[in-house]
Amino acid sequence: MEIQVNDVSKNYGTNENQVVALNHVFMTISTGDFISVMGPSGSGKSTLLHIVSGLDQPSSGSVLYGGTDIHNGNDKTLSAFRRQKIGFIFQQFNLLPVLTARENIIMPLLLDKKGVDEPYLQELAAFLGLGNRLSHLPHELSGGQQQRVAIARALIAKPDIIFADEPTGNLDSKSSGEVMDLLCNIRKKMNITLVMITHDSHIAKIADRHFTIIDGKLSEVDA
Ligand code: ADP
Repeated sequence: MEIQVNDVSKNYGTNENQVVALNHVFMTISTGDFISVMGPSGSGKSTLLHIVSGLDQPSSGSVLYGGTDIHNGNDKTLSAFRRQKIGFIFQQFNLLPVLTARENIIMPLLLDKKGVDEPYLQELAAFLGLGNRLSHLPHELSGGQQQRVAIARALIAKPDIIFADEPTGNLDSKSSGEVMDLLCNIRKKMNITLVMITHDSHIAKIADRHFTIIDGKLSEVDA
């Protein structure tokens, strides 16, 4: 499904306190794209990710998924759309500490009142090297393992697109490399679109299309 970000701006605050977090952003994301968005802290990366994924509303402009404006519907329709079509990976993993790895992974399905595709869960766990870790609590896992649980959770509902917010920001360089390799391989295998924000140029280079954002202005590098 093609995503079109059409002249999106986002302002926070009013008058002299106003911050322009996104400044007339245009972006077209095609099915299967692997995109990195790089920029310094405060440049608007998270704001962009939140608006393109429907977690936040733009001040102006639109975000179209297959021609439909995702911010036009009600909150319920948008949340259901997000749960079914979009996976999220965060810097801080965002696992629920009292749930096992398996329970964390299947949480999106429970929220959507869907059954678990057990062979698919086992396949994901094996691919991510989590086969013997599913009954562990997050604090019993390394950072890299926790992020791999979060990747499995992002993939469990078989989404079309994954948004990753500094996916390696909390990992040492060895775990970062492992997590990025797994993410790249699984993305290819499942033909999933991946949009990743990072401030790390080495990680950004792994993507196929590279964007930079500075003071809310987005541009594609080597387009
Ligand atoms: P990045 O992810 O690149 O660090 P952000 O998208 O978080 O940047 O922030 C872009 C700008 O918008 C920054 O100046 C930030 O302070 C501001 N900003 C972000 N969220 C809010 C908010 N909820 N209220 C006010 N200003 C915000």
